Amino acid sequence: MIAVAQRDYYETLGVPRDAGEADIKKAYRRLAREYHPDANKDDPNAAEKFKQINEAYEVLSDTEKRARYDRFGQAGTQGGAGQGGFGDFGFGGVNDIFDMFFGRGMGGQARRHGPQRGADLRYDLELDLEEAAFGKETELNVPRLEACQTCHGSGARPGTSPVTCNVCGGRGQVQTYQNTMLGRFATVRTCDRCGGEGQVIETPCLECHGIGRVRRTRKIEVKIPPGVDTGHRLRLSGEGEAGERGGPRGDLYVVVHVRPHRLFKRDGDDIYAEARIGVTQAALGAEVEIQTLDGPFKLKVPEGTQSGTEFRLRGKGVARLRGHGRGDQYTRMTVETPTKLTERERELLRELAGLRGEAVDEDRGFMKKVKDTLGM
Ligand SMILES: [Zn+2]
Ligand SMILES: [Zn+2]
Repeated sequence: MIAVAQRDYYETLGVPRDAGEADIKKAYRRLAREYHPDANKDDPNAAEKFKQINEAYEVLSDTEKRARYDRFGQAGTQGGAGQGGFGDFGFGGVNDIFDMFFGRGMGGQARRHGPQRGADLRYDLELDLEEAAFGKETELNVPRLEACQTCHGSGARPGTSPVTCNVCGGRGQVQTYQNTMLGRFATVRTCDRCGGEGQVIETPCLECHGIGRVRRTRKIEVKIPPGVDTGHRLRLSGEGEAGERGGPRGDLYVVVHVRPHRLFKRDGDDIYAEARIGVTQAALGAEVEIQTLDGPFKLKVPEGTQSGTEFRLRGKGVARLRGHGRGDQYTRMTVETPTKLTERERELLRELAGLRGEAVDEDRGFMKKVKDTLGM
């Protein structure tokens, strides 16, 4: 019984005893694919091998089970309270593991030894449409972790330096051997004293309390290029948080939000606007002042302009972020029907109607009648 059960899980997966989680996962994935029964219908040994691979992975991928296995061998992983053995490990379970890998992925935990890159930061910047259209130079106040100036990031008080951990001898891991009736087993775990760093700070820096980084708010100058739009991200390389243990700085991402404008709607590089002209202007032609991103603009409206006519103003739109020049502005003209007429204005309009042969039916009590009918 024991002779059969004495498969070494590390050997089964072909990984060294100090293999990390990621390596174990990688080895398992490769072997599981290779020995999957579906892919080896002609090999009667494949199913058994596949089962062994899964059994080994089941134990080695679980920190607790792995530690017990390292200490006690298979006996340590079997017969625990409420835990069945692994002999009955069915294919249902295997499929679950496959789903984990090939579906969502598990994203292994990064090891916290050695230099680590600082975190990226995000800054949400609100801009007016004009600022987005023409670009802007601005200063951002960014709170971020920076390397401590007092200890230059080491965490040790000036004049002192971190010393090699005397428990693990700088390796960050401690290995213990245990003789059991099943053989000699090694247990590797993270060193308690230095937390896996291999070094300890005996006299911590007073400024950062040994952390090596401090939070500071920095003014960062940023040049917003003309033509940015909501959702655009500008990356300021190396302006994120300081790395740990001398690691590189993260990046700062400035995310642009353009506020809605009172007069203009934007569509890509183009601007859409509305304007109004009087009936006489529309009929006779006129020069009217309309609004653009650059300010007031004199637009020549030709005679006979109909309501709804759209005027295109070339190059009055937003700067093209990639490329040259600017988009256009489209201004839609509404011809306003005059209201609140004086007697004199009525006379002139009646005369005009007569000349044009247009029948008019002036019922000055019309609106009153409507209101009476509706009971208003
Ligand atoms: Zn410090
Ligand atoms: Zn240590």
